[in-house]
Amino acid sequence: MWSDAPVTKRIAVVGAGPSGLYAADALSSAGADVDVLDRLPVPFGLVRYGVAPDHHSIRSVRDTLQKVLEKPGVRLLAGVEVGRDVTVDELVAAYDAVVLTYGASRDRRLDVPGEELAGSVAATDFVAWYCGHPDADREGMESALAAARSVVVVGVGNVAVDVTRVLTAPLGRLQATDMPQHVLDALSRSSINDVHVLGRRGPAQATWTTKELKELAELDGVDVVLEDVHDLDLEPVSAALVESDRVVARNVEVIRSWAEHELDGTHRHIHLHFHARPVELRGTDRVSTVVVERTTVDEAGAHGTGETYEVGAQLVIRSVGYRGVGLEGAPFDDRRNVIPNVEGRVVEADGSVVPGLYVAGWIKRGPTGIIGTNKKDAAATVASLLADLGDVEGNGGDGIVALLAERGVDVVTFDGWKSIDAAERALGSSQGRERTTIHDRDALMAASRG
Ligand code: NAP
Repeated sequence: MWSDAPVTKRIAVVGAGPSGLYAADALSSAGADVDVLDRLPVPFGLVRYGVAPDHHSIRSVRDTLQKVLEKPGVRLLAGVEVGRDVTVDELVAAYDAVVLTYGASRDRRLDVPGEELAGSVAATDFVAWYCGHPDADREGMESALAAARSVVVVGVGNVAVDVTRVLTAPLGRLQATDMPQHVLDALSRSSINDVHVLGRRGPAQATWTTKELKELAELDGVDVVLEDVHDLDLEPVSAALVESDRVVARNVEVIRSWAEHELDGTHRHIHLHFHARPVELRGTDRVSTVVVERTTVDEAGAHGTGETYEVGAQLVIRSVGYRGVGLEGAPFDDRRNVIPNVEGRVVEADGSVVPGLYVAGWIKRGPTGIIGTNKKDAAATVASLLADLGDVEGNGGDGIVALLAERGVDVVTFDGWKSIDAAERALGSSQGRERTTIHDRDALMAASRG
């Protein structure tokens, strides 16, 4: 039977993390059908593979995001890698518009001698390991952990706090999470006593949030200490920050409360070092020492003073930020590591708009903000997309489902995810836990089939 009803627009969203699912939500609320693609066989991106497993309330945003996948007209196509299984051009041809929200998954480097030594790892890799990411380097992380009594964490952002907390937290706290069993086993065998956290600027310039910072000292059996009380002698640029920013003022106050803290010899110790940048990692076959240079800070950043000291460490975790990478078929700004865009519309280097291609989340603006930041960001991109498409009818196609079937791509749908979810709950229950993350890709695929 013929109908005069307009053909619904069909949009592809690449990435099933928070920004992708917030974009899908806004698009479906505006009446579009949405296919959400992800290269992994499971949805939720950094909510599953970035947020620390012991941060239950932040991870519970997954329940909200799952509701998006339950909406009529929204389909999950997980286990589909754009660039390998399907190209950006094929997506643009098959859909009325494509929104790239694939995040910033790579690590940034320190570029100091010795960074390649065994025992020197990226926080992105360490986080992937403890969250049970299927691509995690399990052997590398577990051997680095087994060798460590003292750890250096470079960087003073929220990821550095997460990593430090996971390394020092009592086992009971970690057992109440969905961490894979092998991660719990490795952490329970660890003989780490000291974690040294290095900020290259002062306490006023740290990017962690106060709640996360304070949580470190609330861990049972853990003491936090400021290594050098002179770090609290704020230089003019830092004093001005404390005056103008309440979060900074609170952070500095918390750190002040840890100055000259008495350390309990039976506890694990977290040592905060500021004005401290690593200039070399030393060791014969694996890292054993970090050479740290003292810095001074002004408006331009941190400046080395030439004065150095050494910190013994068998594990060095660089937590100096995530980095986005390009995708074949889309422009890329390799200076800022983002997809160039104007209000979410992807643009070429000359500023011309790429028709049908949009961007949201970390690959749009860089790796900043909390999960909620992505909701507003995705809504802004969707507003641009809807304004461009206006009242034009959809192309009437069914996206790339048939193409993927033709190519033999093993797609995990929402039903497949529900089977994985049930399998993870069952695995958890068999271990006396609420759920346990399945980390192996083949096991995930098998679970998706029920
Ligand atoms: P971040 O906040 O940008 O922190 C990166 C840190 O690395 C900064 O302290 C930075 O110092 C330092 N750094 C960069 N290059 C360095 C170098 N070459 N040598 C020494 N230090 C260097 O990034 P992040 O911790 O990876 O977090 C990413 C985003 O996720 C943030 O927006 C964060 O808030 C969010 N997140 C939130 C939570 C939560 O809400 N619980 C948890 C995890 C992550 P400078 O400032 O001097 O550059």
